[in-house]
Amino acid sequence: MKCMRCGREAYRSTTSEAIETEFGLLVIRNIPCYKCEECDEIFYTGDVVEIIEEITAQVKQATQGLTIIDYSKAA
Ligand SMILES: [Zn+2]
Repeated sequence: MKCMRCGREAYRSTTSEAIETEFGLLVIRNIPCYKCEECDEIFYTGDVVEIIEEITAQVKQATQGLTIIDYSKAA
């Protein structure tokens, strides 16, 4: 996997994402991603993006306030 910003090699890692929703802040932890060793750019594969969108849609219906989700348990 090459970095989309600088073209260097990116390695598998995990990250957290904070998503602002109309109902509050959603934090998803342990999201599998690729991280560039050169510029620290983080990017996701298409299936991970889809799952993040699914989690976000479900949480929007269910909760208010601050929500913290562990990706590895939700996916
Ligand atoms: Zn890079």
